[in-house]
Amino acid sequence: MELLFLLAIVGGAITAAVAKNRGVPGSPILWFIGGALMFILAFPAALLQSPDPEQLEKNKLAGGDVKKCPRCAEFVKVDALVCRFCQHDFAVAEKARQVAMLSSALPAQKNCPKCHQDVMKQAIRCKHCGFQFEAHQFRRAL
Ligand SMILES: [Zn+2]
Ligand SMILES: [Zn+2]
Repeated sequence: MELLFLLAIVGGAITAAVAKNRGVPGSPILWFIGGALMFILAFPAALLQSPDPEQLEKNKLAGGDVKKCPRCAEFVKVDALVCRFCQHDFAVAEKARQVAMLSSALPAQKNCPKCHQDVMKQAIRCKHCGFQFEAHQFRRAL
């Protein structure tokens, strides 16, 4: 309630100051009380305002207890394995995501067609047997 009290004082002070500056007739004290009352009334009104669905969505996600289903865009519990709306399988999707992450984390490698050792994908020449990849690819393209 302290916040409300503070808001009322600030609101009252602003209203009184504005009234005084604009030369509005009437006692600044009355304007102060009027402004304070208005703020007290405006504050619960702001709280009771129908929430913005977009903001609510952000709050939910920020809370970390829900996740958005990539398939139906509904919110489901963060621990859910299957979407209760569309039966989207999070476990499978999560697994695929992990695999994708893992493979992207690994240095890209290719297999040497000659000695079958792993070499860097951007390698032109096999470091194990000296096989020339570019020349090989070029020949294949022809
Ligand atoms: Zn879903
Ligand atoms: Zn090789």
